[in-house]
Amino acid sequence: MSREGVEVIVGVLALQGAVEPHVAALSALGAKTLLVRSPDDVAGIDALVIPGGESTTMSMLLESSGLRGPIGERLDERIPVLGTCAGMVLLASTILDGRSDQHAFGAIDITVRRNAFGRQVDSFEADLRIASLGEAPFHAVFIRAPCVEDVGDKVEVVATLNGHPVFCRQGSVLVTAFHPELVTDLRVHDQLLQLARRRTEVAPPLVPTSPL
Ligand code: GLN
Repeated sequence: MSREGVEVIVGVLALQGAVEPHVAALSALGAKTLLVRSPDDVAGIDALVIPGGESTTMSMLLESSGLRGPIGERLDERIPVLGTCAGMVLLASTILDGRSDQHAFGAIDITVRRNAFGRQVDSFEADLRIASLGEAPFHAVFIRAPCVEDVGDKVEVVATLNGHPVFCRQGSVLVTAFHPELVTDLRVHDQLLQLARRRTEVAPPLVPTSPL
């Protein structure tokens, strides 16, 4: 039994931060969403969004909610994931200027420095040329954004601003230093959905089908 034609369910980590705009963006693209608040929520999702917010707070809440382990297991299974801003920090392999007890999932081989992007201005906006999204520039909103200071060999730098990577990808892991959920342009969320749909279509059946 193929899951072709079955809509994917995208979990949005809902412990803290900008949850609703991601739900709205995914819903506008026709995806089903599920707010991820407890370990029971994790098994049924086909993809995950880790939103912006405060990565130190989210790190503590991941621990106290018991979500860290189950989410880490799904990331090991390579479910597609989009991390925006604080979400990028949480998915990185190394965090600079984090709390000493702050945990990173290490799902993408990047080193990020918290709050370092545009140190002089907390927030700014910029139009990015992103080849994989097509011709039209993407209007990117940066809010106390992390700066990517190093990327591993397997990481594709999808977009840069002033020479700094601001959108990176490693396999099914997408991370942005900016907030694609705060604009009406849905192309970044659409990339996540495409990865999720492709994965569920080729996934082996959960139970063997009996011959007719
Ligand atoms: N500076 C925040 C952090 O490190 C991220 C800010 C954001 O997500 N807008 O968690």
